[in-house]
Amino acid sequence: MSGLPEGLVRMGRHRNVMREIREHGLLRAKEVGAENVLDFSLGNPSVAPPAQVDDTIREILAGPEAASIHGYTSAQGDQAVREALAASLTRRFGMAYRAEDLYLTVGAAAALCCVFRALACPGDEFVLLAPYFTEYDVFVRGNGGTPVVVPPDYETFQPDLAALAKAVGPHTKGVVVNSPNNPSGAIYPAETIEKIAGILREKEAEYGHPIYLISDEPYREIVFRGYTVPWLPAFYDDTIVCYSYSKSLSLPGERIGYILLGEKVAEREDLYAAVCGAGRVLGYVNAPSLFQRVAAACDGLTADLEVYQTNRDLLCGGLREMGYTCVEPGGTFYLLLKSPEPDAKAFCRRAQELDLLFPPADDFACPGWCRIAFCTSTETVRKALPLFKKLAEEYGLEAKA
Ligand code: PLP
Repeated sequence: MSGLPEGLVRMGRHRNVMREIREHGLLRAKEVGAENVLDFSLGNPSVAPPAQVDDTIREILAGPEAASIHGYTSAQGDQAVREALAASLTRRFGMAYRAEDLYLTVGAAAALCCVFRALACPGDEFVLLAPYFTEYDVFVRGNGGTPVVVPPDYETFQPDLAALAKAVGPHTKGVVVNSPNNPSGAIYPAETIEKIAGILREKEAEYGHPIYLISDEPYREIVFRGYTVPWLPAFYDDTIVCYSYSKSLSLPGERIGYILLGEKVAEREDLYAAVCGAGRVLGYVNAPSLFQRVAAACDGLTADLEVYQTNRDLLCGGLREMGYTCVEPGGTFYLLLKSPEPDAKAFCRRAQELDLLFPPADDFACPGWCRIAFCTSTETVRKALPLFKKLAEEYGLEAKA
């Protein structure tokens, strides 16, 4: 008996599987050289932020705001920043937003935690569409909710809408949608979002309370040719957008994002207040000041995403030719690869012996699959392909002619 919360001690010891593999990769890099470790474990963007990020920082540091830039802002984010972001979102998505609709956060992780905390009353459930980002389970439970998992259609990694309709019940407070999706790269098309919205509207009417669509969108702009990402608030009034600049601007370590609650969201005023309350309880007094300004200046821009398109094409094409099963991602820099043996952990361990690093997708609620994060250099992808081929031969996969 340590006198400490056992659940937290356990969680701290059981590290996130991607970080575990990443640590192993760093150790191996010291032994065999970084160029010989092909690490596809973590969603850490490999491309530099757009030039405007550093330009903005230089301008601020050389300008009249330099002395105050490191100070506290309003808890919900600097007023001028929220005004600039609201104007940018209004321009980009064709719906009117105001500064009061935005709450700046320490990345999408904090946005999600604040939203779950703001919404969850005892007994409330949050529906998660598998496969999903490993931390959802932690964020929901840690903030007082109960996750309810809906399996996907495994041929496409699109949501199984009949299963979703069954899972939404009288205790459902929210449904989390993450499209483009980590770990599958799937994008849910407009018809699917329309159907999800229809199901939720029916359930709201049946149960007589709001059911929020929580749209987690850190990959909104990382979209491959031929795909588009619908703007969810245009389909469903009770949508809460959680956004992060971590991936689009290649700024994951700087921790900046926002929550957007449009004017049509049910119980908006109280919900916004609850988000502010959740931010206080969780200790997120204000999002990083300097990067709030960067977000305002760079909203809608992206790093040069071409390398992700090249990597996706090389990997998807190459792996399929070798006989692997993978579903083409429409966005993000992830893909799911079906393990050639039922135990994906064992397959990942075998790959690790070749210094080819990627995690099993079990913790993404997708057992039997592995997640490849191809936000690496294209050189790393090219070096990895012969190792994937070696594994394909070992496992007796039939190469496509
Ligand atoms: N949501 C998804 C789907 C993610 O993939 C990630 C990070 O990888 C996050 C949220 C957390 O993002 P952030 O770095 O902005 O906290």
